Amino acid sequence: MSTSRWVRRPGTWFTVTLALVLAGVLITTLDRGHARSAPPPADATPPPSSTTATPVAPAPEWMRPLRPGEKPPQFVLFSFDGAGSHEHWGRYLSLAKSVNAHFSGFLSGIYLLTDQQRPRYTGPGHKPGAASIGFGGSAGEVATRVQDLNAAVAAGHQVGTHYNGHFCAGAEPSVGRWTAQGWTEEIGQFSHFVDDARDHLGLHLSAKDVTGGRTPCLEGNWAAAFPAMLAAGYTFDSSQPSDGVKWPTRLDGIWEFWMPYVKVPALHKKVIMMDYNLWYQLGHNKNDAGQYTQATLDTYRGAYRAAFDGNRAPLVIGNHFNDWAGGAFSRAAEGFMGEVCTKPETVCATYAEVTKWMSLQDPAVLDKYRSMPPAQAG
Ligand SMILES: [Zn+2]
Repeated sequence: MSTSRWVRRPGTWFTVTLALVLAGVLITTLDRGHARSAPPPADATPPPSSTTATPVAPAPEWMRPLRPGEKPPQFVLFSFDGAGSHEHWGRYLSLAKSVNAHFSGFLSGIYLLTDQQRPRYTGPGHKPGAASIGFGGSAGEVATRVQDLNAAVAAGHQVGTHYNGHFCAGAEPSVGRWTAQGWTEEIGQFSHFVDDARDHLGLHLSAKDVTGGRTPCLEGNWAAAFPAMLAAGYTFDSSQPSDGVKWPTRLDGIWEFWMPYVKVPALHKKVIMMDYNLWYQLGHNKNDAGQYTQATLDTYRGAYRAAFDGNRAPLVIGNHFNDWAGGAFSRAAEGFMGEVCTKPETVCATYAEVTKWMSLQDPAVLDKYRSMPPAQAG
């Protein structure tokens, strides 16, 4: 497992002048006012009397108990850590819509703070304002991010947490050394940033809607972290490695959606199927002439095929919103999302959806699949 930190200042993703910021705020305000005052189209049904009603999408066909003898859908869980980049949100949101996919963004909480607001965050054992990643940039950049998150929530995607300061081994005290009290402080601050953005920036998300996430660099002392997650009302984590593709397991009240070690055909060995780990093992070059993307796509395809033909365990595709090696891993994730989510018996879903689906199943039927060996790509 990688222990290196990645440092990426989200502010470098955008260049926004003050004029654009003001224009953006104005346009947003005007848009909202326009939406409220515009007459409904002629064929619109009358609005419900409650102004707080949000449209509820009908449950998908697969959200039901399996029929006798029916195999579970092959779930694929695309999940993106950080979830701060406007460019990446835009690309994945439109791609997901085109292939009927849902995915999960694990937000770094300090992306909801402007650079000037950085003293509001104090990582466990760290100085106020310290973090291994950048903060949210300008007020305009944070406002754009809130709009992206709102668009994601409205489209049925899930927002989870990548926590705040991204303190991996080496940035001590790192997440692997935090006590339960440290985790409680970190989660509490994440929740506060989300609710603060809800109250003051128009974020359509509350801390209570966040039910889990992924730890920085997949690190953590689980005996300390899980009680804090449980106390925060979290129901899942997706950080711990498994050998092969394995069904989620309930550990101390939290569903662990494993990060699988899978065969990378180009390397003839197993690597945790996470963009950073693949990048590092493939040679961690700054640029990619196509080999990284191809090697990653081959890895995804092999793992998917092994799960589909084997135990049908949900397949977690872990990525960041990143441009490492010239965007090689984003190209791989986009390519795979584009091809896999429309395959038969395959559903690209969120953690919340898969958790709900599991709760609908006869435990004996799920146990049969759980007892099968973890799927291993050949
Ligand atoms: Zn990360």
